Amino acid sequence: MRSVPLRTARTLVDVLAAAPAGAAADADLPGLRAGLEAAARDAAAVGGWHPDDPLRLTKAVVADLLRCPRRALAPAEGGVTDDVVAGLVVDAAAKLATLVPHRPPTVEDACAYLRALGDTTVDDHLADRGEAAEPLRAELRARVERLVAAWPRIDPAWWPRVEDPVRVRLADGAVTVGGRIDVVLGGAPTERPAVLVEVKGGRWWDGMRADAHLYALVVALRDGRPPAAVVTVVADGTTQVEPVRPAVLATAADRVERALATAAALAAGEAPATRPGPHCDHCPARAGCPAAGVRAEALAG
Ligand code: SF4
Repeated sequence: MRSVPLRTARTLVDVLAAAPAGAAADADLPGLRAGLEAAARDAAAVGGWHPDDPLRLTKAVVADLLRCPRRALAPAEGGVTDDVVAGLVVDAAAKLATLVPHRPPTVEDACAYLRALGDTTVDDHLADRGEAAEPLRAELRARVERLVAAWPRIDPAWWPRVEDPVRVRLADGAVTVGGRIDVVLGGAPTERPAVLVEVKGGRWWDGMRADAHLYALVVALRDGRPPAAVVTVVADGTTQVEPVRPAVLATAADRVERALATAAALAAGEAPATRPGPHCDHCPARAGCPAAGVRAEALAG
């Protein structure tokens, strides 16, 4: 296997060629777990969560609690948008490229994969749009082509897994932190260190790094060994490669602890703070949000 220093890896191809060693082998996992346990117990004591009705922290919930507590309380927006459809297609294409590496996936393949899983969201959205869906179809083709260009043919020795469920129980199950990782390579069933791959259907923005860091933390606590790297592959052509160093895990744990404190304060009845920013543009609570209005006026000049 070709050797590429992981710190210079720019693509998923580079990462797999490097056969990376874990950069956070000396991370203080017991210390990180102890800090999370203490924060979870404090939060559960205030919020009243218990194993039968736990607080479930996913990457999206943690992000919302930290970015804007008011947004974290807002019900999710219903409806299917072009962005949602693009995310589904790109995600399915990445899984096909992982599982069937000898056949580069197309948009049609991705739709068929979703259909086989009982998910007709994309089919229905395109059918509803009729002929007007052609620009969207072209955009989907471009995004899948960019993904395929960035995706290596993965050696089966990496034991590729898709939709890997990962979860850490805290405070005896009163709090869980977890989710499903798009693609996991190496790790426990192999001699190789784990590489986690997150696939994003939209455009790169820096906040995506925190999602990958959270998964690195949860996998490290689950497996007792940190992954070597997290890789975020975005449909705009961006690939972000990050070696998992102790500081990455510590920062991720700090975010979870702050999210727990915010969740507890909200559960105790504290008025949710509003923290406007670029995330307001996609916020389900933006209608009627005074902070969003002030931000919009400021941007308008
Ligand atoms: S519009 Fe912005 S400030 Fe208002 S709740 Fe949403 S994210 Fe927060």
